[in-house]
Amino acid sequence: MPKSSFIDFKAVKAAITMEQVLERYGLMDKFKRGTDSLNGPCPIHGGSNPTQFRVSISKNIWNCFSECKHGGNVLDFIARMDDVSIHAAALKAIEWFNLDTKAMSAGDGDEQPIEAAKSDTAPAPKPATKRPAQVAEKAAPNAPLKFRLDKLERNHPYLAERGLTLETIVDFGLGFCSKGMMADRIAIPIHNVKSEVVAYSGRFPGEPTEDTPKYKLPQGFRKSQELFNIDRAVKEPADKPLVIVEGFFDAIKLHQHGCKKVVALMGSTLSAAQEELIREHTGRNSQVIVMLDENDAGRAGREDIACRLSRFCFVKVYEFPQPDMEPEHLSADEVRLVMEGLR
Ligand SMILES: [Zn+2]
Repeated sequence: MPKSSFIDFKAVKAAITMEQVLERYGLMDKFKRGTDSLNGPCPIHGGSNPTQFRVSISKNIWNCFSECKHGGNVLDFIARMDDVSIHAAALKAIEWFNLDTKAMSAGDGDEQPIEAAKSDTAPAPKPATKRPAQVAEKAAPNAPLKFRLDKLERNHPYLAERGLTLETIVDFGLGFCSKGMMADRIAIPIHNVKSEVVAYSGRFPGEPTEDTPKYKLPQGFRKSQELFNIDRAVKEPADKPLVIVEGFFDAIKLHQHGCKKVVALMGSTLSAAQEELIREHTGRNSQVIVMLDENDAGRAGREDIACRLSRFCFVKVYEFPQPDMEPEHLSADEVRLVMEGLR
């Protein structure tokens, strides 16, 4: 493994603000300050509209609502501005802001490449003071639950209707819950990468009326920090592609059909934390298959996801031949054919 892969990206991201980075590029005079925002023309695609690019100061992220249709954190910004990898962006940030290389390297005493990256022409060190308080909070993981839902009804007709076998239902710990917060819903346990249950999602068993949510999640739970089924996907062989889908039932169905290295986003977008999780568990030769629903949200999501993941692994996008198709709709044979076709 190259020495330079020991950078703790999280620490680098937490140590610098978007404002400092914009200042470093000499862009701050083009930006107007809002309550919790900086607004200006997009420096990435070189737009001129003064409201197309927005920085959230508290979240320390940016978004281009115009041509880029993209957003991200400070490192994504540097990576896009300079057309370099996230790794190279982190090295630049460490150099520009004179960050403590020991704190920034996750390895033990291997900060050589970072030292080497410093040169005599480096700008005067700027102290990285304005550390955004909410970054640390945002990065905090969901705490494991201290209880388990018991007496779940495994053979509820809704689960059979969705084509799940009893083996799959038991394997994923699914079942109809009759009491408590998830009462009258199908409980779906969500595990973190260490296989600890961090939440239950409650699916309404059928088509809910307008004022009833399809899914219920515990208050305070941040699904953007998790990838459903990641704990089992990471145990699959490294040379198998990782399939990314939107929903719980997409992942569960693909798993039942033998495609076990699958994770669900629990939505159609990839959060920064989810991207980080995937990056941590993929190598340079890893393959990822993005298989979102064939609708507007899915199409928008997969473009963005493919673009971001392709910075550190091989990405293939699967497009369904018909509109409104979802991975859950595929039969076992179709799943096999699709996976063979993508090889
Ligand atoms: Zn842009």
